[in-house]
Amino acid sequence: MCKDTTNKTISKENPIKKGEESLKKKAKTKIIAHNFSRKLAEKNPESKLIKAYEESYFCSNTYTVGGGKAHSHYCHRPFCPICQRIQTAQI
Ligand SMILES: [Zn+2]
Repeated sequence: MCKDTTNKTISKENPIKKGEESLKKKAKTKIIAHNFSRKLAEKNPESKLIKAYEESYFCSNTYTVGGGKAHSHYCHRPFCPICQRIQTAQI
């Protein structure tokens, strides 16, 4: 029997590929969060949470690169998909 180990070796040898996949997932979530928070704000203009919706809209909008790491500002709102991804990973 011949085991196919090409996928394992690619992910081990090429960390750039792994980082690229991670950034693609992050970008997908950002698009969802951006549209989601905009719709929430548009549909509920009289809501008490309008400021939270706006904060969620601008969540992780800019990245600052320093010391080999990228930093961003997060809103930490329960309805923000970006922040929920982070919270899920921490559990
Ligand atoms: Zn957020």
